[in-house]
Amino acid sequence: MANVCNNYVSCSFVKISYDDDRRKLVLRRFISKYCQGKSQEQCIRKKVCVALGGPERVPANLMPNGLPLPGTGNKNWSTEVKMLL
Ligand code: SF4
Repeated sequence: MANVCNNYVSCSFVKISYDDDRRKLVLRRFISKYCQGKSQEQCIRKKVCVALGGPERVPANLMPNGLPLPGTGNKNWSTEVKMLL
């Protein structure tokens, strides 16, 4: 297994994934691919986090592929986040 992402423990997407019983199978595939896998450096959350200087302003419902979690939207995302996508 590739190294786990440095943001793993503090990442709100990871927390949501483990708390979401309804979508956990889909979300854990993202964790396997990105957070614990080879696509880690392609994670959009990670790029946004670096660009904004930390995880605080990264929307919790932003998935590693840059889309909002299924069933949610991006209308509450800041302009700076949207411009980074
Ligand atoms: S979603 Fe992205 S930033 Fe968060 S732990 Fe996974 S790879 Fe890291």
